[in-house]
Amino acid sequence: MQQQITLSLLPQHTANDGVLKKFIADHLGKKINEIKGYTLVKTSVDARSKNIRINVTLIVFVNEPFQPQKKSSFEFKYVSQAREKVIIIGAGPAGLFAALKLIQYGIQPIILERGKDVQARRRDLAQLNKHGIINPESNYCFGEGGAGTYSDGKLYTRSSKRGSIENILNLFIHFGADENIAYEAHPHIGTNKLPGIITAMRETIIEHGGKILFEKKVTGFTILKNTVTSVETTDGDSFTANACILATGHSARDIFYLLQNKNILLEAKPFALGIRIEHPQSLINAIQYGNFHHDNYPGYAVLNPASYSLVQQVNNKGVFSFCMCPGGIIAPAATNENEVVVNGWSPSKRNNPFANSGIVVQVDLPDALRELKKNGYLKTDAVKDPLSFLHFQQLIEQKAFDAGGGKFVAPAGRMIDFCEEKVSSTLPKCSYNPGIHAAGFDHILPAFINDRLKTALKLFSKKMKGFYTNEAVVVGVESRTSSPVRIPRHPIGLHHPQINNFYPCGEGAGYAGGIVSAAMDGERIADQLAKVLVG
Ligand SMILES: Cc1cc2nc3c(=O)[nH]c(=O)nc-3n(C[C@H](O)[C@H](O)[C@H](O)COP(=O)(O)OP(=O)(O)OC[C@H]3O[C@@H](n4cnc5c(N)ncnc54)[C@H](O)[C@@H]3O)c2cc1C
Repeated sequence: MQQQITLSLLPQHTANDGVLKKFIADHLGKKINEIKGYTLVKTSVDARSKNIRINVTLIVFVNEPFQPQKKSSFEFKYVSQAREKVIIIGAGPAGLFAALKLIQYGIQPIILERGKDVQARRRDLAQLNKHGIINPESNYCFGEGGAGTYSDGKLYTRSSKRGSIENILNLFIHFGADENIAYEAHPHIGTNKLPGIITAMRETIIEHGGKILFEKKVTGFTILKNTVTSVETTDGDSFTANACILATGHSARDIFYLLQNKNILLEAKPFALGIRIEHPQSLINAIQYGNFHHDNYPGYAVLNPASYSLVQQVNNKGVFSFCMCPGGIIAPAATNENEVVVNGWSPSKRNNPFANSGIVVQVDLPDALRELKKNGYLKTDAVKDPLSFLHFQQLIEQKAFDAGGGKFVAPAGRMIDFCEEKVSSTLPKCSYNPGIHAAGFDHILPAFINDRLKTALKLFSKKMKGFYTNEAVVVGVESRTSSPVRIPRHPIGLHHPQINNFYPCGEGAGYAGGIVSAAMDGERIADQLAKVLVG
């Protein structure tokens, strides 16, 4: 007999197979030798009370031979001779998962990626972190695997209706991710493991006759009779195919300008902007786990470094934590000289001494326009300009660069000093490698963001006692939270309303916010293309 049960256990009771079996047997009123095995379905930490519990849902094999769950298998066809071909611009999660799905349908993907492969890209990240030198084509946002390659690799999303999360997680496992991502409530992969997984995806695409071309930056489209007839790259090459998927991410500003110059319909899309905050991880563990955070507590070793998720309404706008990275590092995520952008990543063990998270405020069009006007950037037609949010985002990033003093040094301040509008006289140790510089934020962030952040940071400490502290450092600016532009699509056909074979996809087009949702959107476009091209 197989039975699904949920147990609420102390952390130390989940670490040992024999102990866990004993709890299962007791729960079911069976003898331990009647429990032949179990499969984990879901695990989650419940840290709401003093006694932290781990909720474990399992399928138990009682008096029946144990059968381990079958691994999902995927059938990739050989597509080098396929009649149908699709150009995919961008090798981020949206582009890669679209390519893998197209191959499953027997369609050849041709991926054009402006950046380098994961290995070569690593050297450019080192230059940026150590010497403050950026390669505008190869950085934390651009290159194989897209913006998610050197990230925490958090794999949770609220967009469960947009596709199969399970399918995405199973593909990650197929390409080398740990099987625990299938049952953990908040799965993540980690920066050290993601490049290997991305490499395995590339090898499968190439082995099955798909193409991936690096350092191929798309700079032009030829459009005749509402159809893309060719895609052009900076080196003078041009490519033709039945259709084109545009999956260039939220930082490809040149693509937004290119489309605008071609009078291709775009829409301004609200997004969120703020700062990244970093606490000692030990402090976050102490706040979230209480007594459990002590090394001598038996369950401590089982608990992962603690995370948090915070949200607060302040003056009719949401202020919320974004992309929290336990045991993480703050990363320089700019794509151009003269702009400072921060984000975060963690290794799979999340074992760095700091916990960082974006804390951001929703930005609406009147806010962006007011700020552009104040800074002399407002064109008369800005209300209708679909790139108004993009201009606003860039303006704040440039102010942050100036305040940091160059070489991607980021403006920073201790948390209480930030809230009291003081420039910190000293700064704590911070994981951000290009360095931080004490600065006031009133010249960087507009008041509608700055004031709400100050209020929210204080209020957060009602939910997490000890959060509001000068041990924490505020680092600016967290500005690439999602795309500031939407590229519209036909509600059913999913192509651009003006161009029949052109498919905006993923985060940059405004249809995803994170690795899993971008991957699901890539699959969704591939499903649609299969209907159109192979019936
Ligand atoms: C440091 C960092 C940490 C993050 N952490 C997480 C996390 O833990 N979990 C999570 O869910 N999300 C995270 N994100 C966000 C996540 O990476 C994105 O949501 C996701 O990658 C979006 O996927 P995408 O395929 O739509 O676009 P992208 O990943 O942005 O990929 C777009 C690709 O297009 C290429 N490109 C752009 N312009 C051109 C052009 N003109 N020609 C050819 N190629 C072009 C780019 O080089 C890039 O490779 C993080 C992002 C960053 C920067």
